[in-house]
Amino acid sequence: MKYRCPRCNFGQLHAARSSYVRRMGRQLVTIPGFRLWRCDFCGYTRYDAASLARIETLLGPDITEGDTATSFPAARTEGPAERGPRRWSS
Ligand SMILES: [Zn+2]
Repeated sequence: MKYRCPRCNFGQLHAARSSYVRRMGRQLVTIPGFRLWRCDFCGYTRYDAASLARIETLLGPDITEGDTATSFPAARTEGPAERGPRRWSS
């Protein structure tokens, strides 16, 4: 299954592994070796939908400022999720 990159509309998303990082209260939770998808052209990255669903079952939904809690579309069960790693400015 191939997924065209939604950002550059040129590259393709390939399965990869990297760390899942999210903030829970004052703590950063890091899960190494997390499945995600990365564009081979521009580096656009999205978490794997199935893996993300599993982690949110364990940890609860990742709702932070700026996210809309109500309008999340029907969850995809495979392929890239709607969300990817955030960049936190230190
Ligand atoms: Zn791209």
